Amino acid sequence: MHDVIVIGGSFAGISAALQAARARRRVLVIDAGSRRNRFASSSHGFLGQDGRDPAAIIATARAELLSYPTVTWLDATAAAVRGLADAFVLELASGDYVQGKRLILAAGVTDELPAIPGLAERWGTSVFHCPYCHGYELDGGRIGVLATSPLSFHQAICFPTGDRRRTSRAACSSRPPTSSRRCHAGVSRSSAAPCVH
Ligand SMILES: Cc1cc2nc3c(=O)[nH]c(=O)nc-3n(C[C@H](O)[C@H](O)[C@H](O)COP(=O)(O)OP(=O)(O)OC[C@H]3O[C@@H](n4cnc5c(N)ncnc54)[C@H](O)[C@@H]3O)c2cc1C
Repeated sequence: MHDVIVIGGSFAGISAALQAARARRRVLVIDAGSRRNRFASSSHGFLGQDGRDPAAIIATARAELLSYPTVTWLDATAAAVRGLADAFVLELASGDYVQGKRLILAAGVTDELPAIPGLAERWGTSVFHCPYCHGYELDGGRIGVLATSPLSFHQAICFPTGDRRRTSRAACSSRPPTSSRRCHAGVSRSSAAPCVH
């Protein structure tokens, strides 16, 4: 019986497991190995780790975690859970079972990319989800924002660096929803793009 079972062994799961381990709990981390940023070769904006390969960050974090003797790591997929606190039963995809008193869900999210030819191959190298993580590196070239939701407009306008005219034009391909206009107006002071509200 584990004190804590953590589903997901990436940034969130390892962080949670580390604190539990330091509280001298018996911790089991179950990880399916599909870290969200596995497509990127560098990570940015993470204090003390800027520019480092995320795989290397995770390898270090995992090694530090596993130096605690009460931590066990399982490369596996959690398939189902039943029970209540103090008596969870977790079924693995393999059909095996493990038991734990507490459960931490750190399974992350899965990016569902639009079906645009060429997009999936470029995901994490020249197509990104977040201007704060990778915008600085892209700023030397032309930038497009793929608008998949009203928040996409906000993302284009709030692009943190460089030539705001360029990002504003990209955003103008779809008109902003009302909720985005305040941000847009704030940025447009330094923008010569035609979409000033
Ligand atoms: C291309 C790209 C680049 C990025 N670059 C940056 C960056 O530069 N800086 C930055 O701060 N952030 C960046 N991010 C965001 C960053 O990747 C996420 O914020 C971070 O990975 C979230 O960590 P997490 O632990 O919550 O989830 P994840 O990293 O998604 O990890 C979840 C883990 O849970 C596992 N899992 C899921 N379901 C199960 C299950 N049923 N059983 C067992 N295990 C399971 C998965 O296999 C995975 O290992 C980037 C994201 C992408 C997509």
